[in-house]
Amino acid sequence: MEKTKCLIIGSGPAGYTAAIYAARADLSPIMYEGLQPGGQLTTTTEVDNFPGYPGGIDGPAMMEDLKKQATRFGTDVRWGMVSSVDMTNRPFKVTVDDGAEIEAETVIIATGATAKYIGLESEENFKGGGVSACATCDGFFYKGKDVAVVGGGDTAAEEATYLANMCNKVYLIHRRDELRASKAMQKRVLSTPNIEMLWNHEVKEIVGVEEGFTKALNGAILVNNKTGEEKKIDIEGFFVAIGHTPNTALFNDKLEMDDTGYLITKPDSTATSIPGVYAAGDVQDKHFRQAITAAGTGCMAAIESERFLGEQL
Ligand code: FAD
Ligand code: NAP
Repeated sequence: MEKTKCLIIGSGPAGYTAAIYAARADLSPIMYEGLQPGGQLTTTTEVDNFPGYPGGIDGPAMMEDLKKQATRFGTDVRWGMVSSVDMTNRPFKVTVDDGAEIEAETVIIATGATAKYIGLESEENFKGGGVSACATCDGFFYKGKDVAVVGGGDTAAEEATYLANMCNKVYLIHRRDELRASKAMQKRVLSTPNIEMLWNHEVKEIVGVEEGFTKALNGAILVNNKTGEEKKIDIEGFFVAIGHTPNTALFNDKLEMDDTGYLITKPDSTATSIPGVYAAGDVQDKHFRQAITAAGTGCMAAIESERFLGEQL
């Protein structure tokens, strides 16, 4: 069976940064890219907040740069989806969807998290043209404009208050008459003058104009689920904040997770509940979910893998 000192699952900013560090530490890492080579940033255009690109950079181009840097030091990047990991003993046995089996001394999990969307056709249509699932990433483009956030949890409350600092007005659309967010976050939302709560509302349609490939959202049609009444709000940005699903199904009953499925790592570390298995990026981070934080924890995971292997000698 093929053997490696370090196997990396996932090719987003966390996976590639782990690969750069692991390769430079002579661990000759193997990386499986998964179904989305380059990760979430390959679905966006402008990335303005990753240090080192003063003029901003196109998401897919940035991920190509990370890949080049990882392969320059010898990372073996492979197409394929890891389908199971046996972590009962070391070396861990990793199986890939093409049937390949690899023994890995350490595993770095960088499988990311996927934003949930409401599921409307019009929502899908305006993704990248006004619909976003990340205020920190895209809020800047709506400075001085009217926007809406949908959701009632801590993420929605945080996104709404973040946007309220830069936008003219923020509608917070929630399907119930009570927020799920923590009391402290509720207080912040309800005391921010330019956030308007739209209780008991659901989104029926996102509307806008389309000219060729250019799309510009200009409103949302909402339904009051108590009265059935419909209304249109005029907005240019629509932020979906109804939760994320961490990509951790592979590790159910194998690694410690929180009640929402995020992998739990030790404080100031990327170590999971099994020695030699590390988790980096969005798969273990429900709070920040940024490329730079994913890259930072990817770096940590590689350094921790290398130290772990050193301790085994
Ligand atoms: P991801 O990028 O999610 O990558 C996960 C990887 O794991 C993928 O390559 C996938 O194929 C792979 N994978 C999953 N399961 C398996 C498996 N079983 N086997 C093998 N591989 C697997 N952040 C910013 O900092 N700035 C921005 O401007 C910004 N804009 C964004 C715009 C959009 C539209 C989105 C969706 C996100 C944006 N983000 C932005 C957030 C940022 O993309 C994420 O925080 C970051 O990509 C997380 O990196 P990651 O490496 O943890 O995981
Ligand atoms: P969440 O707590 O699951 O909240 C999701 C919200 O979206 C809920 O209000 C839910 O409504 C609503 N929702 C779900 N599906 C919907 C749909 N199809 N249409 C309309 N609304 C929908 O998710 P989250 O806010 O992302 O938080 C996840 C976890 O991270 C939580 O434990 C949270 O406390 C934590 N977190 C903490 C912080 C912080 O402490 N600063 C920040 C962010 C997240 P209902 O309420 O009606 O179910």
